[in-house]
Amino acid sequence: MPEFETVIGLEVHVELLTQTKLFCGCSTAFGAEPNTQVCPVCLGLPGGTLPRLNKTAAEYTIKAALALNCKVTSHLSFDRKNYFYADLPKGFQISQFFYPMGTNGYVEIHRNGETKKIGIRQLHLEEDTGKLSHFGDIMSSPFSRVDFNRAGVPLMEIVSDPDIRSAEEARLYLQKLRTILCYLGISDCKMEEGSMRCDANISLRPVGSSELGKKTELKNMNSFRSVFRGIEYEVERQCTVLLSGDSVIPETRHWDEAKGVTRAMRSKFVSADYRCFPDPNIPPLPAAEAWVASIKTSIPELPDAKYSRFIEEYGLPPYDAEVLTGSKELAEFYDGVLAFYNEPKAASNWIMSELLGHLNAAGIGISETKIKPEALGKLLQLVGKGEISGKIAKSVFEEMFATGEDPAVIIGKKGLTQISDEDTLTKIINAVLAANPQSLKDYHSGKKKALGFLVGQIMKETKGQANPQLVNEMLQKKLKKLKSYTTEA
Ligand SMILES: [Zn+2]
Repeated sequence: MPEFETVIGLEVHVELLTQTKLFCGCSTAFGAEPNTQVCPVCLGLPGGTLPRLNKTAAEYTIKAALALNCKVTSHLSFDRKNYFYADLPKGFQISQFFYPMGTNGYVEIHRNGETKKIGIRQLHLEEDTGKLSHFGDIMSSPFSRVDFNRAGVPLMEIVSDPDIRSAEEARLYLQKLRTILCYLGISDCKMEEGSMRCDANISLRPVGSSELGKKTELKNMNSFRSVFRGIEYEVERQCTVLLSGDSVIPETRHWDEAKGVTRAMRSKFVSADYRCFPDPNIPPLPAAEAWVASIKTSIPELPDAKYSRFIEEYGLPPYDAEVLTGSKELAEFYDGVLAFYNEPKAASNWIMSELLGHLNAAGIGISETKIKPEALGKLLQLVGKGEISGKIAKSVFEEMFATGEDPAVIIGKKGLTQISDEDTLTKIINAVLAANPQSLKDYHSGKKKALGFLVGQIMKETKGQANPQLVNEMLQKKLKKLKSYTTEA
């Protein structure tokens, strides 16, 4: 039986966070009444109004091209991509066909400490289309409704090379892309709201072959989970087709989330079908080197640089670095904790287990937590100095998570400070020993387990507030002393 290699390339569309559309002044705000954010330019009405390029959208696209390690074009121009579809008011889409904004870039994905480069073939700026809605299922709906509020919203398309080998790699690539674009602040990348959309070109080929197999294009995946599920399903389907001796039909397929299957929609367009030509209404501009250079200086520290810094500067394991740089907010939170208490591994442990655990359980994101980075830093400092035990720190953390209060305030209010005073501890140790003569005997007859029991009793007596290390030391000293008395006598 032949074994197949999966070959996947992703086309990702991202709406840019500009106030206005790409070639007119209409608002891009999400959620307005249908067809209220439109004008003759974005509706393609006949008349004398000409498109005018939104400079911010061009800047954002150049920013993304630089962040994704692309070569930026020096010739800023736009072309018409002609096709007929109900969501396209002008009968053509303004896009960058001949001179994409960026080419030949890459993104790095990390998996189990390994790094893999996924090539970016090109990145370009274009207009979004209108939005069609249907009654229930697209295939059986008696009508299509169209909302042109989205028509003309600046959209960036990022086309990967066919370097992706599994559904899991596709998900990692997509997540990485989202992280980078969110770090840049140029898109909110919400798949559920459609501000990030993903189509997957999927094909299989015999292992060892360098030729590409016949591919299908998979659409309508509206979450990271459905990208993963959709690709898994389509790979299985093509595998079955090939094993039965048939060949894969090149076509566009629709992912049905509810049924968990992909279905044929239409045969695939090839680029010649679009009859692209330069848009005569938008004269080309040189993308001045100085302009591109100034955009470059506005790029913040990106996830890969942060990832390397967290490993090299803080000595974190790759896994920790990967989790902590997974979002800009989380990485900033971590840096914030360290600014207050510089113990990188302790801070990482607390954030990854306690903070992320609580956020997950509460179903909220890092930006919604009431805990401030310096408050967590303070808490870790109290543990580090031995003023409270790790166990008490966890209960203080609970309270901080619920109320956002300062750890010192919570500790003061609840009287939770650790007991490290030797006089106080001596009294408690004596009392516990007097109350447990059998344990004392057991210990001296060689049953070392008795020590643990006695420590436990002392911790119980102090409601967990005794400094456990100190208790251990003091108790052992005391027991040794008692033993020498008994042997002398
Ligand atoms: Zn408009």
